[in-house]
Amino acid sequence: MNDTAKNQRHQQRMARKKALIDASIARADQEKGLLLVLTGNGKGKSSSAFGMVGRSLGHGMKVGVCQFLKSRTDTGEEAFFGKQSDCEWHVLGDGFTWETQNREQDIATSQRGWAVAQRMLTDPAYQLVVLDELTYLLNYGYLDADQVLDELAERPPMQHVVVTGRAASEALRELADTVAEIADVKHAYRDGVMAQRGIDL
Ligand code: ATP
Ligand code: MG
Repeated sequence: MNDTAKNQRHQQRMARKKALIDASIARADQEKGLLLVLTGNGKGKSSSAFGMVGRSLGHGMKVGVCQFLKSRTDTGEEAFFGKQSDCEWHVLGDGFTWETQNREQDIATSQRGWAVAQRMLTDPAYQLVVLDELTYLLNYGYLDADQVLDELAERPPMQHVVVTGRAASEALRELADTVAEIADVKHAYRDGVMAQRGIDL
């Protein structure tokens, strides 16, 4: 095939592709608040959620972030987003379960934290709500999973919610509009590299 024929064939193929893409863009005409679930064992769940926080703030949207489980307040994300006037940031954990070693205390902390999330999930002023590491509270039974899913389903219709954490349940995946499972291919931690500022915290 000579170059002219190759160019012509490429042009025809791209024209067919454009027609398909234009048709699918025309079909995607809905606007609604989305529930996203970012799960899996690989690195990148919380940092992806914080990427959406940055995007939303860039659009002048009001954002609420609830960080469950974790207790550290020296992360780069909190230092940066916590001082943005449109972003409300709450660290709602007591530390990891293997640190607290106290189930009663973990349940009480989770329920106190969930009350903060409930306030956001019933207020349409919050256009994006991030529920970081929520899956653990559901999987350990610290919160009533059915009740939490009902509250997520009943949130304001235009509000986006991002839930992160490993091992998202089938029911949570089903309720979500977008689910991504991040695979763990390798992680520097297993080579003995400690958590690095800017990358891990
Ligand atoms: P990130 O906050 O970096 O997006 P994540 O939310 O996907 O990570 P978490 O399970 O919440 O993952 O773990 C948070 C911390 O643990 C981060 O410091 C992250 O680099 C590290 N981490 C994430 N995945 C792994 C892994 N597979 N092995 C070891 N450490 C990990
Ligand atoms: Mg995380």
